[in-house]
Amino acid sequence: MKTFYRKKTRVIYVRKIPIGCNNPIVVQSMTNTDTKNVNKTLKQIYELASCGCEIVRVAIPKLEYIQRLKKIIEKSPIPVVADVHFDHRIAIEAIKAGADCIRINPGNIGGEDKVKEIILCLFQYKIPVRIGVNVGSLPKKYRNTKNRAEAMVAVLLENLKIFEKEKFKNIKVSLKLSEVMETIEANRLYIKERDYPIHLGLTEAGIYPDAAIRSATCFGILLSEGIGDTVRVSITGNPVLEVETAYEILSSLGLKSKNRPHLISCPTCGRLNTKIDLESIAKKINDSLKNIKKNFSVAVMGCEVNGPGEARNADIGIAFGRDTALIFKKGRPCKKIDIKEAVDELIKEVKSLL
Ligand code: SF4
Repeated sequence: MKTFYRKKTRVIYVRKIPIGCNNPIVVQSMTNTDTKNVNKTLKQIYELASCGCEIVRVAIPKLEYIQRLKKIIEKSPIPVVADVHFDHRIAIEAIKAGADCIRINPGNIGGEDKVKEIILCLFQYKIPVRIGVNVGSLPKKYRNTKNRAEAMVAVLLENLKIFEKEKFKNIKVSLKLSEVMETIEANRLYIKERDYPIHLGLTEAGIYPDAAIRSATCFGILLSEGIGDTVRVSITGNPVLEVETAYEILSSLGLKSKNRPHLISCPTCGRLNTKIDLESIAKKINDSLKNIKKNFSVAVMGCEVNGPGEARNADIGIAFGRDTALIFKKGRPCKKIDIKEAVDELIKEVKSLL
């Protein structure tokens, strides 16, 4: 698989997962349950992990959540990043509770002295920190700036200097805005300054599919320039969609295998007078393939005249005629079947391939 030259970032570890340099891009997500509810949060973490999420972030808004965080970490199948704002004591307790990484915005944690206390604890427990600068939390002096990307990088560098003064380099960074082009610019500017690995994300990206399209545009451009070591597609709704979208983006770029079938389907056209509802058939087939953990391609084509040829690279496919459908493998005709049995027959053939 052809891939991109990656920028040489420093390697850090979140639990045992290496991040940075030429290590595989890591897919992250964040729970949206109330962290107080340990079972519900763990259930979501298991759902995320089962669809390929490799690192999960969990919000810890209050000190009294620490005991719950501890239980979550003990049972989580994937590394847990504690997301902390405003109170350095929460960050310190989260580290002591076993968090695999913490995410803070040093600008809102209570001043340099408090950040230094956190750094001491990070040293002691040997875990990394993600320094996350979001456009919503720019300090006052930058709020009316015309170039928000430049302001974000300036803030990040100010934050990094606090850590560097203490010689702490177990860091990854993120620069998140809700605008695609500004996020791209901020990350491009940052990579000229430092080599800490980068977590890519758009903030407040919106609902699905808009958020997925915006993220794909943003990450696609940055990743093609070798920028980005971990990704989170932020979507309002079920975070499982975030993970599925992240895999779709990374697999489209040849950067990660999604370990599930890849559906190809044609848009249909007036040329060949397709009589079937290809959209609902394609969706039905896609749903039936969802639980298969294998990388191969399945084509669903609107006509049997051009379909098998157009989808000749697919491992298996189906193309529809007036009353019958044709199953083909690598473009070669394999079986004619009744249209009514098309979906079931295709799935049967897929299973026999496995
Ligand atoms: Fe049109 Fe057939 Fe091509 Fe689909 S496969 S776009 S129906 S020509």
